[in-house]
Amino acid sequence: MMTLQQIFGQEAAIGAIRRALAHDCLAGAYLFVGAPGTGKGALADALASAATCTAPVHPFDACGQCGSCRRLRAGTHPEVVRVSPAGEQTQIWQFWTRDNRDTPGVLSTTLCYAPVIGRRRVYILEQADTLTEAAANSLLKVLEEPPPYALFLLRAPHTSHVLPTIVSRCQIVRVHPVPTDRLTDYLAQRFHMPADRAEAIAAYAEGKVGQAVRMAENPAIAAEIARVLDLAEGIPRAPRVRALRLAEQLRQCAAQLRALPGGQADPISGDEGDTAPAKEKASRRTLLGCIDLLVIFYRDLLALSVSGASACVVNRDRVDRLARIAASAGPERWMYCLDALLMARRRLEANANVAMVTEALMMALVGV
Ligand SMILES: [Zn+2]
Repeated sequence: MMTLQQIFGQEAAIGAIRRALAHDCLAGAYLFVGAPGTGKGALADALASAATCTAPVHPFDACGQCGSCRRLRAGTHPEVVRVSPAGEQTQIWQFWTRDNRDTPGVLSTTLCYAPVIGRRRVYILEQADTLTEAAANSLLKVLEEPPPYALFLLRAPHTSHVLPTIVSRCQIVRVHPVPTDRLTDYLAQRFHMPADRAEAIAAYAEGKVGQAVRMAENPAIAAEIARVLDLAEGIPRAPRVRALRLAEQLRQCAAQLRALPGGQADPISGDEGDTAPAKEKASRRTLLGCIDLLVIFYRDLLALSVSGASACVVNRDRVDRLARIAASAGPERWMYCLDALLMARRRLEANANVAMVTEALMMALVGV
């Protein structure tokens, strides 16, 4: 678990949190919003550790050594409770004990007891955007007037994904992507990696710190990126009749991803179990990961065909081959491909049929 000081790139949010902690005027509920992979989780966790620490240091932060900090680090803090969706949604019975459920609700069993290990009792709602309406409504009163020792930390991609009545009861903390050059320096330093690798990861992650860190921590990622890009290189010059076969290869490639963001081993995917809808959702997500890589690939082609300069090319290690592909058509061709990719992305997010989206995509991408 990270401390506030170890969080990179969210200076404004951390400054506000530290001031509130130092003046002992922390709100009872915070909503962390930002795109998946920006690092909402790390920031919420850092606030949890600073708020519970019994011997905080200056400027306000967790000490890392008290009983509360040690238990948090070990993942065994009984007063810091995480609530993630049970299946697709976060349900009311996860908070409040219901007669027809064996599992007691976390709020029913703990909310009225002051903490004894740390200074606060913390409830982290990992995906507040998945709260059922009943669950959300059942929280309104406690979010409005929580016990003085309780702290609710909610996470969601955007405020519009959460009921307005919940949003209005929370302090909003926005978590932003950081400039890629800053992220490059950070990755190179923290992971002792060569600058060009750090640069590539920062560019792939598009400034999202959480995603970049997961990519940097996982050496398998480079191989998976290479697999998607090898497929990509074959697309522009493939004849029209190959489109359906390429669509199938793209789906297979996505299904095999493990390390890439959205892949099967991705912590973002959480405990969704093995249900058919969960698998369908997972394959949609890995496909979105592939499409993000294809967008970067075609952006490289566009950059090379417009300026011929390799300075802003992300896939540096392939620049010679990319330059040859880029020269085979004009910039408007690569613009057209990028449009087709963004359209495919929107359709996938809107739950369109995966096979149909990939087939339409490949028909647009294959050679003229
Ligand atoms: Zn501590």
